[in-house]
Amino acid sequence: MRYHIWTIGCQMNVADSQRVAAGLERLGYEPAEDARDADVMILNTCVVRQQPEDKAVGQLNLLKRYKAQHPERVLALMGCMVGVKDPAPLRARFPWVDLFLPPSDPTELWSYLAEQGHLDEAQTLIADAEARRLALSRTDTILPPSGKGAIVSAHLPIVLGCSHACTYCVIPYRRGPERSRPMDVIVAEAEQMVAQGVQEITLLGQIVDRYGYDLPEFKGSRATPLVALLHRIHAIEGLKRIRFLTSHPNWMKDDLLDAVGELSAPTQGASACVCPHIEVPVQAGDDEVLARMRRGYTVDAYRQLVARLRERIKGVSIATDIIVGFPGETEAQFQNTYDLLKELKLDKAHIARYSSRPLTVATRQFDDALPVEEKERRRKLLDDLQSEILTELNGRYLGQTVEVLVEGWHDRKKRWFGRTPTDRLVFFETPGTGDWLGRLAQVQITWTGPWSLIGKAQ
Ligand code: SAH
Repeated sequence: MRYHIWTIGCQMNVADSQRVAAGLERLGYEPAEDARDADVMILNTCVVRQQPEDKAVGQLNLLKRYKAQHPERVLALMGCMVGVKDPAPLRARFPWVDLFLPPSDPTELWSYLAEQGHLDEAQTLIADAEARRLALSRTDTILPPSGKGAIVSAHLPIVLGCSHACTYCVIPYRRGPERSRPMDVIVAEAEQMVAQGVQEITLLGQIVDRYGYDLPEFKGSRATPLVALLHRIHAIEGLKRIRFLTSHPNWMKDDLLDAVGELSAPTQGASACVCPHIEVPVQAGDDEVLARMRRGYTVDAYRQLVARLRERIKGVSIATDIIVGFPGETEAQFQNTYDLLKELKLDKAHIARYSSRPLTVATRQFDDALPVEEKERRRKLLDDLQSEILTELNGRYLGQTVEVLVEGWHDRKKRWFGRTPTDRLVFFETPGTGDWLGRLAQVQITWTGPWSLIGKAQ
């Protein structure tokens, strides 16, 4: 019996897919490279913008005929396209899909496979369904054994859902309200990942720095609960690096910044480094647009945050997200965003054209009147600016020796690749032909560009 998982979207989806793969492998399934060889096929979907949703619908339509020819094969749709509400409308639209799984919760898959007589061992998983539903709290295999050694860097969800309700964002409607997972469960899972060969763990949450405030042990806590978690993960032997994302500007308190500053400094001995890399979206560089997005901060507050980050975390790299063409964004307001990016010179910016999403406040209350060509013009302007900024920032790496955690071999470029603690993508040549996967390589940089660096390992 074989399975195939098709995944698009954010790191949370990647983590969810790995968890499903792990469950299936535990039950005896093996991975199939080609979907056409799979007995169980899962599409893990994203609907944060129209484009990934269109891709998922395209896949579903492709699979319609295939499924008619092979009715015995199981086809499951998972993730944000399904969401946490009743999937009846989806069932009516895609009747050839066997089952609909909400994000981060594959419980129904196990019962379905058991009902279909696919497996006996599934019973053991079903017995624990309630615990799984509560907090994904089982600590069985969370990475597929087939990935052992190959998965150098893994993602670990620590906060599920989101309750912030930015006006453009569909995630709270699809992933449900914010809930933190118990700290002991997270630590146990992190330990298990390390036992499976993982060297870098990225803790995930929509607002990751809100981790823990809803847990009984942190009720009313003035200290940032994420700091306690970082210390516990940092103590796991064998782990090399820790990252966390995504942060919200309002929750990045000084104790968190100081903890990153302290735990990112090179230490004696074996403990992991918390990478000096912060992903903290600004979304827009104009106060009125920010207010209509209901982000809850001003441009100036963000500016001050960047200054605080740079002061408290040595060598910090800062990544951001920006939406262009939010409803009503004027040319002058866009210019403010452009000017802010130019002023702050951040280390990365993920730039997206605004995409109207069902149910969101922005869709219900504002007019998405800007033509797509205009949104694209704005996106391109920011992209060009970002490329200029990164050409300059990355140029500073030339001749330096950086530490790269090796994540894989790039077949086309014929080079190993990995990332620096500051999240720079580095391709490099090696002295011999040995296996560098999972190693911490010291790489001297010989070429720099806006999106990657090239070097030689020592
Ligand atoms: N909760 C995280 C991630 C949200 S989704 C956060 O606070 O950033 C990732 C990014 O997608 C967002 O940061 C935003 O820039 C973008 N995004 C979300 N909704 C969007 C929409 N309707 N149109 C365009 N981009 C969107």
